[in-house]
This record gives sequence, C-alpha cells and structure tokens, in this order.
Amino acid sequence: MRPLYFDYNATTPILPRVFEAMRPYLTEHFGNPGSGHMWGLKAKRAADHAREQVAGLINCAPEDLCFTSCATESDNWALLGMGLDRPGAHLVISAVEHPAIIECAAHLERRGARVTRVGVDHQGLVSLEDVQRACASGADLISIMLANNETGALQPVAGIAAWAREQGIPMHTDAAQAVGKVPVDVAALGVDLLTIAGHKLYAPKGIGALYVRPGLELEPLLWGGGQERGRRPGTENVAFMAALGEACALAGEDLAAEMARQRELGRAFLEGLAGLEAAWRLHSAEAPRLPTTMAVGFKGLAAGDIISGLVGYDVAVSAGAACHGDTASVSHVLAAMDIPPEYALGTIRFSWGRPTSRQDVAELIQRLGRVLASLG
Ligand code: PLP
Repeated sequence: MRPLYFDYNATTPILPRVFEAMRPYLTEHFGNPGSGHMWGLKAKRAADHAREQVAGLINCAPEDLCFTSCATESDNWALLGMGLDRPGAHLVISAVEHPAIIECAAHLERRGARVTRVGVDHQGLVSLEDVQRACASGADLISIMLANNETGALQPVAGIAAWAREQGIPMHTDAAQAVGKVPVDVAALGVDLLTIAGHKLYAPKGIGALYVRPGLELEPLLWGGGQERGRRPGTENVAFMAALGEACALAGEDLAAEMARQRELGRAFLEGLAGLEAAWRLHSAEAPRLPTTMAVGFKGLAAGDIISGLVGYDVAVSAGAACHGDTASVSHVLAAMDIPPEYALGTIRFSWGRPTSRQDVAELIQRLGRVLASLG
C-alpha cells in the first residue's frame, strides 16, 4: 500500500531544490563565515544570501533577522530576551500557544513574573478586547501566535499589534506554522518579534529564525563570539541557513497559487468526509485558517483508536487529543475552545503540503472510511 503522509504540521520533508541549495555547504564549501580566506568568504556570501531570501519572504531588512536552532529557541529568546524572568514583569499570552511559549511562560512565573493567559472563543480565536483587558494594568510583552498548530486558526495579530504599538507594548508572534503557507509580512503585521521554523516549510530540522524590529532591545540568550551581530553567538550553520533561505525563496515564488491548490485539497477532503458514515465536526470552521490544516472531531470515538487504525493502512496523521495510557485527555487548545468532549476526544489533525495530490486525498478518504466503519 502506498504510504500517505498527512502530518505536515509536525514536520515536512526537505524538498530537492532546498537540499541542492544546502549540499555544497556541507561538503566542498565548508568554511567558517568568520574566516577571512576564500573558504570563509564563500560561506559568508551564502549566509548573507540566505538572510536576504528569508527577509524577502517576510518583508524585513536582512539585518533584522537572526538565525536560531529552531522555533522553540526563537520563542524562548523572545520572552527571555525581553527580560521577563523577574518579579514585576507582566507577559500576556493566549491560552492556545505552543508549549514553546506556554512552558517558557511557566518558567518566567517561577522567576516571579506575572503571566496572563487570554482565552479564546469556540472558534479558537483571541479577541482584541480580551487582550486589552489583560493589559489594563500594563504589560511588558504580548505573545500571540499567528497560526495555531492544531486547528490552523489564524489569530488577529495585526489588529492586536496595532493597538499594542499605540500603547507602547512590544508584541511577539509565533509564526512557525504560518510562514511559507500564508503571506507573512512583518511590516503589515506590525509586530516587534516573529518566530520562524525551518522544518515546517521544507528546510531541515535544526534551523529557525527570529525577526527583531530595529531598535528593540533584546538580550542575547548565549554569550560568545560576535556572530549574528553579537546577538546569537556560535559558528553559523551555513548549510541549514542556505536551506532555509532557499525554502523561503521557493515559498515566495508561488505562494498564491499554492495556497489556492491547498484550499482545493481541503475542499476535496471535506467533500470526502461528508460522504462517510460518521458524525464529525471541523474545529475552527468559521475562523480564518491555514489552507493546509483541518482538525476534525469524530463523535464518540477515541483519537488513539483512529490513529492506530490509520497506521494499519499506512496513513500518518496526528491527534488533537493526547492519549496517556488508558485515560484520554483533551489538548489544551480544544479545552480552551470548550469543544464538547464527545468530539474533542476523537479529534484528528490532518495537515497536507506541497507534495500532496488530489489522489492522496481521495485515498485518505477511502482508508479513513474503512477505519471509521471498523470502529463504528
Ligand atoms: N511553535 C509552533 C506554533 C509550532 O507548531 C512548533 C512545532 O510544532 C513550535 C513552535 C516548535 O518548533 P520546534 O520544535 O521546531 O522548535
């Protein structure tokens, strides 16, 4: 049976063009960009080019970008670099952030900071009014993700950032799931800090970036050499930088066309679901969403059983509900959305990507139909 991968929000493959862009910097052009000789200069040129490519996709100046090791590092850096690990600091986040923000916020709390978690509506969306209320006594940073990794819901970040700027409150957004899938323009968004993850857009695991608005004071997490203008020392991972640059260039070339194609796949998926003998609901159905993600709650079923069934048919998906042994628990995202347990516990996240075809969706529906029939 042909394997079907519908877990692109977990990670993506490295596309051939991206791999070819990074390959020379793993082998013959292995120089350290800090070296003044030919090998170093070749590597430095590649790093500069990659920075321009990433900057081009999100509409910032290349010098406003720092490469990191992953989105988790970028998220942690945004919070810790703003000096929030102290009594009296106030951080405002949403209740549906990735653990890279949630756990870092909990760490800040242990250091004496105050963290306010803003709830979401049934669609999984934060409201500007709730953020304003959370900031009533002042705030040192607002961090609200752009696209939710479980539901694909797109938060109203631009509106919140515009208000935050008027108040003089810096704003970070975790755009790990958004960059490369929908237009992300830091100038239009008006954010001060933005997180990018390489492996969510066909670059390797182990590379990310953080956009830092010019003039914003952000403490480094690491201390050492002067790389990344002294903000993120450590010899640059030139090969992975080249890969992230190429992945961003590729994403920018056909973003609108690829988004339309992804939406079409989503429509075909929903049509297929409608033809199955099962009760289900699409989470965040009314919210603006990524064109590549659908979290579907199957009524009365356990996500673990559906996933095991699909594994038997060589289909990879992931759960919106994490199962721990015999007891199933609902994800913090679905809990914050107040999804009825009979749907929340049977939630599966389907996410697709550039390599996904209409045929893949048709086969997914066939195999899912068999699994649901066996469980129902
Ligand atoms: N933020 C979001 C929204 C994510 O979806 C992820 C990964 O799933 C991360 C952060 C963390 O990414 P990484 O594990 O690559 O650091």
